[in-house]
Amino acid sequence: MSEHSVTVVRLDRTSPTEREKIVLGVQDLLLAQQVIAPNDRRDASWQPSSWKAGPAARTAVAEPVDWFDAFLDTANNGVDIDGERHVHHPVENDEAPRCPECAAEAPTVYTDTYGDWLEQWWTAGDEPLFTCDQCGWTGPIGDWCSEFSVLIGAPAVTFFNWPPLSPTLITAIRETLGGGTGSVVSHW
Ligand SMILES: [Zn+2]
Repeated sequence: MSEHSVTVVRLDRTSPTEREKIVLGVQDLLLAQQVIAPNDRRDASWQPSSWKAGPAARTAVAEPVDWFDAFLDTANNGVDIDGERHVHHPVENDEAPRCPECAAEAPTVYTDTYGDWLEQWWTAGDEPLFTCDQCGWTGPIGDWCSEFSVLIGAPAVTFFNWPPLSPTLITAIRETLGGGTGSVVSHW
């Protein structure tokens, strides 16, 4: 069976103390809404996440899906709230983002030097800037439009194999993460 996930990630730099606070903030938010509950039978091959779907998980979903009960039985339907910095890769979904001004695809340098700018972002920590070759707009990668492009940051919240999440919940998570945020929809 193929799997998918949605990650919402903080892109701006944060100190370890800030990250710890943000992680607790996101936990509180999701626990208060009963979207998640502690995973009491954690298992690397069954339910590897610290959090599982909570009693009000249905309220987190954008619109009712007929596979919601099947989702509750999925081997990996957990939620990770991770304070460590990671590369969040869309895997099979990977595509270049689009310009927020004119919707043109990212310039060819995005694809041609992918490994280089990604490595530099990882090691130096600065979000890379790209200039649209159609309209000249320049902005950090997180300001380009995409849910299917790689991002690096922390903390991050990842929902594994959940139905599409409600925009209200995503907004609340972004606000709790604070600063610049992005999301990555992965498929593998
Ligand atoms: Zn443009």
